[in-house]
Amino acid sequence: MSENRGYHIIGGGIVGASIAYHLGRRTDEPVHVYEKGRLASETTRKSLAFFGFYGDETQYRMKQYGMELYNGFLSSPRADPGYVTTGLLNVSTTEEGARALQEEVAERNERLADAKGTAVDTSPVDFIAPDDLKRAAVLPFLDTDVVTGSVFRPQVGYFRPRELALEFIERARDEGVVFHEHTAVTDLTVEDGVLSGLSVDGEWRPADEVISAAGPWNPRVAAMAGVDLPVKHTLAPVLELKPKEPIPYTLPWITHRESGFSIRRNADGRVLMTNHPPGGYEEATEYDPETVDDSFPPDLQSRGLEVLESLLPTVETFDVVDERVGIRSSTPDKNPIVGWTRVDGFSVAAFSTSGIQLAPATGNVIADQLIDDDPSEFYEGLSVSRFESYVDHK
Ligand SMILES: Cc1cc2nc3c(=O)[nH]c(=O)nc-3n(C[C@H](O)[C@H](O)[C@H](O)COP(=O)(O)OP(=O)(O)OC[C@H]3O[C@@H](n4cnc5c(N)ncnc54)[C@H](O)[C@@H]3O)c2cc1C
Repeated sequence: MSENRGYHIIGGGIVGASIAYHLGRRTDEPVHVYEKGRLASETTRKSLAFFGFYGDETQYRMKQYGMELYNGFLSSPRADPGYVTTGLLNVSTTEEGARALQEEVAERNERLADAKGTAVDTSPVDFIAPDDLKRAAVLPFLDTDVVTGSVFRPQVGYFRPRELALEFIERARDEGVVFHEHTAVTDLTVEDGVLSGLSVDGEWRPADEVISAAGPWNPRVAAMAGVDLPVKHTLAPVLELKPKEPIPYTLPWITHRESGFSIRRNADGRVLMTNHPPGGYEEATEYDPETVDDSFPPDLQSRGLEVLESLLPTVETFDVVDERVGIRSSTPDKNPIVGWTRVDGFSVAAFSTSGIQLAPATGNVIADQLIDDDPSEFYEGLSVSRFESYVDHK
């Protein structure tokens, strides 16, 4: 690194905040974060912010790092990130859905057995037949007559997402990181495959390390450096509902296999409902985050309320009290793209959902690469070079 040019992070969501925290702890060089709006006010603020052990081996190992870091944060919190354990109950309502759930559990258990005690995925996961469900968990409101199968993962809970990002930000500030709010990066300069500067609100400054942690804007920022990222988008609408009669008990995070709807009861008794369409990368598209409006699509709302009322029929109808729409980024293999790109000096941290859970390990990978020139243990699973026709400068 040339003298005093430092590290420049684009985006002040949870991912940029974690990168700033990890870099700040390991370097005396200046670290700057540019956020075009308010810190942690875009995807991070809209997130349901669950943390749980599901995903592939790379995600499990990343989550272990994250769990340890968050345990440390929670033991002496600075920003009230909260944490509520809920467990995750995935239910099906068709025979086909039940078979799919059974297959998922069988495949996972097979992987576990093959790993012969070396797997990181050791959390208990079981397929529970409908007749056994009310003997296995306290679920007074769930109608087991419509349920054909279920899988319960106990080690799942949720954070307050904005406050969790602020937790990183407070700690990064202690390490001397400077956060610039309401400050947009408007261009990047690349000469002969090497990054040489960035424009901040139109004013050019020299730089030799820029990291894009711009959430759904990542493809747009990467294009400024001439990098075409394999990242697409799906919409992630969230409806906040108030039951007419309060639900007196906690609920697990309930997801419905067939429709992709999921619900969670907040500590204040409100219920959040979202939809995660089962389709993958191929069905995703690219949205302009500036023009996506915050209303939950009405047809999706009526389908969601139908699913909700069939699963929890004794709960009195709900009033809609709030709605918002986030953007979920999506990559071809569902894992994030993290680290060096083919442009020397330009790195990315682009997510395929799960940014709340994978942000800690992502910050560490970026610090390993940029400070120690170490590709990191996650290189094969996270580098953009894992996709055919993409290379990085390593
Ligand atoms: C409804 C919903 C539910 C979710 N549920 C979960 C969950 O349960 N668990 C989980 O782990 N993940 C979940 N996610 C995903 C998770 O929230 C995201 O992966 C994560 O918040 C992404 O963080 P980020 O920092 O990459 O993006 P963001 O929070 O969007 O931050 C990027 C920032 O970059 C800024 N920016 C963009 N361009 C520029 C520029 N040119 N100059 C300066 N600043 C710029 C933006 O203003 C923005 O603040 C969910 C997402 C949604 C939408």
